[in-house]
Amino acid sequence: MQIIENVSLANYSTMRLGGIARYFVEIQTRDEVRQAVSWAAERNLPTIMIGGGSNIVWQDSGFEGLLMVNRIKDYVDYAESAENHFVTIGAGEVWDTVVARTVAAGLTGIEALSLIPGSAGATPVQNVGAYGQEIAQTLLSVEAYDKTSGRLTNIPAEACGFSYRHSNFQTEYRDRFYITAITLSLTAGNPYPPYYSAVEQYLADHPASGPITPLVIREAVIAIRQAKLPDPTTIANNGSFFANPIVSSDALTDLRATYADMPAWLLEDGRAKIPAAWLLEQAGFKDYHDTATGMATWPSQPLVLVNEHAKSTADLLAFKAKIVASVEQKFGITLAQEPELLP
Ligand SMILES: Cc1cc2nc3c(=O)[nH]c(=O)nc-3n(C[C@H](O)[C@H](O)[C@H](O)COP(=O)(O)OP(=O)(O)OC[C@H]3O[C@@H](n4cnc5c(N)ncnc54)[C@H](O)[C@@H]3O)c2cc1C
Repeated sequence: MQIIENVSLANYSTMRLGGIARYFVEIQTRDEVRQAVSWAAERNLPTIMIGGGSNIVWQDSGFEGLLMVNRIKDYVDYAESAENHFVTIGAGEVWDTVVARTVAAGLTGIEALSLIPGSAGATPVQNVGAYGQEIAQTLLSVEAYDKTSGRLTNIPAEACGFSYRHSNFQTEYRDRFYITAITLSLTAGNPYPPYYSAVEQYLADHPASGPITPLVIREAVIAIRQAKLPDPTTIANNGSFFANPIVSSDALTDLRATYADMPAWLLEDGRAKIPAAWLLEQAGFKDYHDTATGMATWPSQPLVLVNEHAKSTADLLAFKAKIVASVEQKFGITLAQEPELLP
């Protein structure tokens, strides 16, 4: 374990902005989490653990503590029966490589989460989801280093507090648990229809030559995503910058009195989720290039803010404020930022 000093945080966020981390370490084993946390505690320094930096915006003021990047590798498939597989995955595994591996093994459960950037260990943090699947549906437990006890512990999925793009790891578990591995419950065989509407549409346009296997869904999701989203390895972005707002059914009725064509997905609890991308488009932010800040919206998905030549996180936040104010003024809806502003 090698702790180094004064590292640019811009290299640890796919938005490529932010100040300096005073101390930095790459964590390769479970025991190194304990060692790194003890090292920081002895010096009274705060710690943050990250994976791929794809859901993080760093403050320009940087981080006066120890940044730990999780690189713990592990992949064990405990086949309980021919059908039921419990797969334990090191938190530092690249998520899409994990999806590819489970799909190649003929397992269903996470194929719709293909091509989501980042690490396996971060997937429970915001309960990642896409194309009709979310990690909460297959996650059995999280293995984490508990800073309070100084030990590894297993947290069952029921104790993770999962809801739409949310878990306890963003709130009361924050700064206490560092995730070292996750265990998923996957099933051998093919996914059942109906598939998510965009996937159904893709399969109607590109009919599969055989049964709809996890691989067919993975390939469809990859094709849809590649057509719509910028690749963060070449274009600086954090994916969807705003969460889809959820409003009451009364609020939706009021909004539709003015905006009759406002799209919405009805939720089981009676509320409605409104696509934030539609709100941005209506507020004039489709393929928008902001010369003042060097930020833009991605042409095929306005929800993705792209750093074209921003100089600082202050530029990004100024562009965000402009969008939030416009949407608020037009619809009375306050958009919430999805990537986390750290520290
Ligand atoms: C182009 C693009 C598309 C995206 N599409 C989607 C999508 O479809 N659906 C979706 O849900 N998300 C999406 N995202 C967001 C992002 O990919 C996910 O949130 C992903 O899980 C983040 O992984 P990461 O390793 O990069 O996490 P990071 O950005 O490194 O960290 C995110 C948060 O998790 C915490 N964290 C990370 N690892 C650990 C750990 N081991 N222990 C404790 N805390 C940890 C960090 O402290 C931070 O709070 C997209 C992002 C991009 C850039």
